[in-house]
Formats: sequence, C-alpha cells, structure tokens
Amino acid sequence: MENTALILIAIALILLVIVIGLLSVLIYKLLKERPQAPVETPKTEVKNEPEYHPVVVERLKEAKSFKPKRSELFCPNHSDEPGEVTCSICDRMYCKACIKPFKTMHFCKEHLPLIMKHEWDEILTIKTSTTDPEQGVRLYDIKKNIFEKEQIPTYIETHYKINVDHDFIETYLVLFGIKENVDELKKKLKNFL
Ligand SMILES: [Zn+2]
Ligand SMILES: [Zn+2]
Repeated sequence: MENTALILIAIALILLVIVIGLLSVLIYKLLKERPQAPVETPKTEVKNEPEYHPVVVERLKEAKSFKPKRSELFCPNHSDEPGEVTCSICDRMYCKACIKPFKTMHFCKEHLPLIMKHEWDEILTIKTSTTDPEQGVRLYDIKKNIFEKEQIPTYIETHYKINVDHDFIETYLVLFGIKENVDELKKKLKNFL
C-alpha cells in the first residue's frame, strides 16, 4: 500500500517535471516569436538641398526633366572631372580646379579676366518671389541667349534686401553688362519688363 502511494507520488512528480518542462519550452517559444515592437524611425526632416534662390530651384527642376549630354556633365577642360560649379558668364559647369570665386559668383578661367578687365554696369533689376519665379527664369534665358547667339557677356547677381516693415527677405536679380555694351543691352531688354 505504501509502495503504491510512493509510486503514485513519483509518477506525479515526473509528470509535474514534464509539464513544467513543456511549459517553459512553450513560454520560451512565445517570447522568441513575439513580434518585435516596430522600431520607430525618427522623423528627420529631409533637408539635404541647400536653400537656393527660387529661380535656381526652378531651373534645377527643369534640368532634372531632361537628360543632359555627357559632355555637359563634365568639365570642358577635364573630361573625367564632373562639372560642379557654373560660370556666371558662360553658364558652363566646370570642375573646382577650373573655376574661381569672385564676389558672390564664380567664373571660369576664360571669363574671370573679362570680369577684372572691364567696368561693369547694371542693366536691369527685377524683384522676384517664390510665388512668381517666371520673370527670373525668363531673365536667365535671355541672358543665356544673348551670350550664345551674340557673344555679349553678362552676369546676373542676386541681391537680398531685408524688408524691415514686413520682416521678410526680398530677392532682386540684377543683370550686369560691360559698360561699353550697356546701351545695346538696354535696347535689347527694353521689352522685358
Ligand atoms: Zn565662363
Ligand atoms: Zn576642369
């Protein structure tokens, strides 16, 4: 009788051990398979692009819509160097070695002397805004045209003025030309405004 009781207790203990074993395996599996809490991706503002003038932003958008030729992507003097900076007179992209900063702009080796040698005068000033960049884009087109078709060099400088009363920054595009060409350029741009 006593033996039977002992055997029963032993069986009960063995069963208990088995049940505990199974339970722990189950719990382990459950814990392992529980889907991990989704990692919160921090919402970083994507602001890789430096703040360009609105007109330039428009041009960049335009430029992205068509594929430039390979030759337009590389420095005209170094076919294996990517063009990085645009000359303010010829609008071609040069590698860093081929372009020099001057005032707020950059000029290629061919056009920097032109800037230095001549006296430059203001031809036209227009006010631009983010909401209406159209006129600015037109001015850049005309400038490019005058250089490519008639070889008259000009450059456009961006001027900023803080409007104190209304606390915002006004942007002006100023077209400059060599003093001797001022009259001719003014005539060409008479109908612009
Ligand atoms: Zn140039
Ligand atoms: Zn170069």
